[in-house]
Amino acid sequence: MAQVFFGQIIHAKSFDELELLADGYLAVREGKIVAIGPKADFESLPEKDSYEKVELSDAQFLLPGLIDCHIHAPQAPNIGLGLDKDLLGWLNAYTFPLESQYKDVDFARHVYSLVVRDTIAAGTTCACYFATIYNDSNKVLAEEIIRQGQRAFVGKVSSNRLCPDNYVESCTDSSVQDNIEFIEYLLAKKVDRVQPIITPRFAITCDMALMKKLGELAERYKLNIQSHISENLGEVSAVKEFYPESKNYSDVYDEAKLLTNRCVMAHGVHLEDEELKVFSARGSSVAHCPTSNTNLGSGMCDVKRLLKANVKVGLGTDVSGGNRIGIIDVMRAALDVSHHLNMMKKQDVKGTGKVAPGSPENEQYVPMNYKQVVYLATLGGAEVESILRRMLTQAVLVALLAITETCAISDHNAVFKSPLHARAECVKYRMAQNTTLIGSPLRSDEESTCVCRCELIKLGLWDSCRGHQPEVPSDQYYDPDEEDRCYRERLRQCLKRAVETGERSV
Ligand SMILES: [Zn+2]
Repeated sequence: MAQVFFGQIIHAKSFDELELLADGYLAVREGKIVAIGPKADFESLPEKDSYEKVELSDAQFLLPGLIDCHIHAPQAPNIGLGLDKDLLGWLNAYTFPLESQYKDVDFARHVYSLVVRDTIAAGTTCACYFATIYNDSNKVLAEEIIRQGQRAFVGKVSSNRLCPDNYVESCTDSSVQDNIEFIEYLLAKKVDRVQPIITPRFAITCDMALMKKLGELAERYKLNIQSHISENLGEVSAVKEFYPESKNYSDVYDEAKLLTNRCVMAHGVHLEDEELKVFSARGSSVAHCPTSNTNLGSGMCDVKRLLKANVKVGLGTDVSGGNRIGIIDVMRAALDVSHHLNMMKKQDVKGTGKVAPGSPENEQYVPMNYKQVVYLATLGGAEVESILRRMLTQAVLVALLAITETCAISDHNAVFKSPLHARAECVKYRMAQNTTLIGSPLRSDEESTCVCRCELIKLGLWDSCRGHQPEVPSDQYYDPDEEDRCYRERLRQCLKRAVETGERSV
């Protein structure tokens, strides 16, 4: 099948160079882009008559497929919920309880089919997914991605401590075996566009023995690697407590041979200058997740600083720390954060003074512009994921179809609708089974309630409006503060055990 699309075409050629073809053409044959250029040039193609012609409207434009460098597929039902905690409290109160439900393969099948559908509908042609520790449901995610035609990396999460008892891999060897089983299962599918990726959750929930084994697996199977780093100050200090012999957070992963040129670490908000040098030397990348960093109060990542240090950067939704399923929202948020940093560095805020100390460097700071976030969302993400340019261009058509199907890209509702719709579907599913979503006191199958609740939470108004919502039996609530206290206690106990067994020194 051959088609040619006439209309506006936009793509980033580099961080600073955006090309706009106001009246362009893009020719596709057998699902691959074979030619692109000004519309006038199309007439000179010898095979021009073999194409079916499609005219885009003025409200549509073509963009390379968007790449989500960091998304947790199982967390989608929690989008918009539980943003009252910082990272460690949020994991325990909301995230682990939800992820532990994916032992239920039917639940996994239902959620994952929606997640893949909605990410594609939001223009994400390539996603780097965290799944869970459960291989049966991880396979369901991989199968859904293959079925729906997305390009993706799928990570079986590895995590052998400091998670709830019902959601932890207590035996390192069996965790490694499960990894091998999932890797070989997915490689045997021989679907080039869907690959396994080594996925230690992060250095707090994985001990060094497990991380080293995972580093070996990445090397043996030549796989990409993903994890989290320096997202939040509490996390950074906890890592320092666990690994006092390491120079810094990056050094922990480096010792396990996880920092490679095929590694993407989410966040990197608080990376020190020394760590950036290591990232640059290893060719490792950062997935910038501004919506999540704001929601969980983690911090403002200075993307310009990372790029200046020669560190590759892409964008990630980090669902459900991030409360949007599409990368276009993340592009907007990346611009917001960059402008906030710029203001912080330069403005004398009334009543507080300059937030950042004045310096010539701060005065010369230039925030990112829209061209640069288009780069981060497309070509930048491809470089992060070590995807060849050839593969990136293959993705363009999918983005086009996805975006035109859900209406014009400039129509915000088309993008905003997806996560809320997915959440409503999940709630309906649980209601039908007469169960409730763990971590969620929501008890309505009305999508409008979801919309209302998500927006109210974002505005910080949920608590004051709760009286107007249907009553929820108290045993269906989590007490986040209680969870938080329990977690801190477990952290203390785990550290104590590590000292007693000699795993770490005092
Ligand atoms: Zn994450």
